[in-house]
Amino acid sequence: MEPLQLTINSDEAMQGLGRQLARVLMPGDLVYLIGNLGAGKTTLVRGFARASGYKGRVTSPTFTLMNIYETDPPIYHFDFYRLEGVDLAELGLDDYLERAGISFIEWPLIGNNSLPEEALVINIEITDDDYDRERCVELRAIGEQYEKRLEGLIKYVAAGDR
Ligand code: ADP
Ligand code: MG
Repeated sequence: MEPLQLTINSDEAMQGLGRQLARVLMPGDLVYLIGNLGAGKTTLVRGFARASGYKGRVTSPTFTLMNIYETDPPIYHFDFYRLEGVDLAELGLDDYLERAGISFIEWPLIGNNSLPEEALVINIEITDDDYDRERCVELRAIGEQYEKRLEGLIKYVAAGDR
């Protein structure tokens, strides 16, 4: 299945993409968020968490490695940017991934983690000089489960439904 490419022109639109994802992701799903600092990874998770009814702060768990938002299903928000020296087994990552929450991992490629291959992989790129606004977003489904989610998302995007 081809990846979905989107141009996202504002913070609010990135949160809108997060809200759309909240309509298609299911308990147990896993999302990898790839992109430079300030790309908008946390902004997307914030939109998702708000749509799931979470009213508290949503920030990168850069130092804590993980935030839990007590929604239904719960959201597990990871950030591996400063992962060096931390043992994922000790963090209990596998346990979380097996639970019926929805997991978002910022910086999944840092360290030599053995993360699941199947996931919804979202790449966010800041386009050149327009640091303030435009982002190129690519969503790629790895595995049949995630192809279904992406198909659902494509319908919402086509309907312009944010
Ligand atoms: P990351 O988690 O990738 O480091 P954040 O989501 O924390 O990034 O920060 C993104 C910053 O860029 C926020 O201050 C946000 O308001 C701003 N921003 C500007 N335009 C966009 C856009 N199109 N999409 C997402 N964020 C944007
Ligand atoms: Mg972040």
